[in-house]
Amino acid sequence: MFMQQNVLVIENSHTSLEIVSKLVRKAGLNPIGARSLMEARARFSQMMPESCLCAIVAYNLPDAPHGEAADATIAAYIPTIVVTDSVHPPTREHILTKDVVDYIPKENAQNYDYLSRLLARLEKNKSTGVIVVSTHRKSRKNMLSMLHKHNFVVFDCPTASDAMQHLANNKHIRLVITDYAIPDMTGTEFVSTLRKAFAKEQLAIMGIAGGENTLLSALFIKSGANDFIHRPYSHEEFLCRVMQNVEYIESVEAIRRAANSDYLTGLPNRRHFFYTVTVQQSSLPDSHALALIDLDHFKSINDTYGHDAGDEVLKVVASVIEEQFPDEVIARFGGEEFCIYFPETHIDDVIKLLNTFRETLADTIIRFNGETLSVTCSVGVSTLNTQNIEAMLSNADKALYEVKRQGRNQVLKACTE
Ligand code: GH3
Ligand code: MG
Ligand code: MG
Repeated sequence: MFMQQNVLVIENSHTSLEIVSKLVRKAGLNPIGARSLMEARARFSQMMPESCLCAIVAYNLPDAPHGEAADATIAAYIPTIVVTDSVHPPTREHILTKDVVDYIPKENAQNYDYLSRLLARLEKNKSTGVIVVSTHRKSRKNMLSMLHKHNFVVFDCPTASDAMQHLANNKHIRLVITDYAIPDMTGTEFVSTLRKAFAKEQLAIMGIAGGENTLLSALFIKSGANDFIHRPYSHEEFLCRVMQNVEYIESVEAIRRAANSDYLTGLPNRRHFFYTVTVQQSSLPDSHALALIDLDHFKSINDTYGHDAGDEVLKVVASVIEEQFPDEVIARFGGEEFCIYFPETHIDDVIKLLNTFRETLADTIIRFNGETLSVTCSVGVSTLNTQNIEAMLSNADKALYEVKRQGRNQVLKACTE
């Protein structure tokens, strides 16, 4: 069940409360404001603790001048971010002795930007894996504890081979943090081993080392690390770099997704289809098939109900295709045309599957703005025994043309001569 994610904002200053509440809303979360510790207590006594993603708490409040409000939210098991007026070192030290997620000095607008990114991350981090590899137990535990407070899924690895095992079993790992001193190889050897399996845009690696050797940072980067951090490091430096590296991987993923998918239906696009079929598979099997699907009289849907209704129909068709062909390579080729590639399937099964899809689509009622619409499709299938996917497409297109000529709403196999 979807639960509205609340963020408790305890802030005496009216302006700061407004700014922070706006950031919380921008992150898709619901701010619950309180101007004092007393008011905050009243608020969180009425809330389900699970509905609260975190609390953003001013260090200094009239009825709680030394971080007592943060103590109260921490005691209520609410992940707590502390906001301070200054970066006064003793205050910073005092805050970091508490079990806080992070602290933000209200120095300039950039700090609010950090808060905004942090809020978005706290939710996303719940499905983001980070591996920490180090021989030093204390250093490992310290890093893991900071990462854990930021909601990351953490993997505690004393050795490189432990890390490799986790990477093989977990698809959601985005960052590996490795010490130079690890038992089974050097940190830089480990980085170059990882790079053979994972590109820099796929998995971020942060090297860590202490001591006098200033060349280690360059060695790590040359071995393929995205970043390096020197020990001793501050709490702030560590978390900022982690955030930056994870955001980098996510940005590349988002760009890749946008480049490979159709904006309207979310299905893979023509470009991605060719990549999947021809590049990912070194050779195509002999008994394969390709189907071209074209919606019937689609223009009249646009003409009768409007372009938005046409768009809704395309989205529904895409979801039926996704549902009916979970194991095949599918794509929206453009306009009202879709394509399906069947690797190693018997032609009789292919025709049967396509006819089931055709009937399901024809029976699907599409609702848009109070209207009920329906659509049928014509399908041309190619079973040419060739490595040339363009030739299969043109072959399937001929069958599709024939279906349209014969009256539509049919599946037809093309001649293989
Ligand atoms: P046929 O049965 O012969 O295939 O007829 P048809 O009307 O489906 O084919 P035609 O090629 O004449 O028209 C396709 C229409 O698809 C024309 C175009 O405006 C519409 N179309 C293409 N892309 C989109 C889109 O993204 N959204 C909407 N709503 N319409 C689109
Ligand atoms: Mg068409
Ligand atoms: Mg059409």
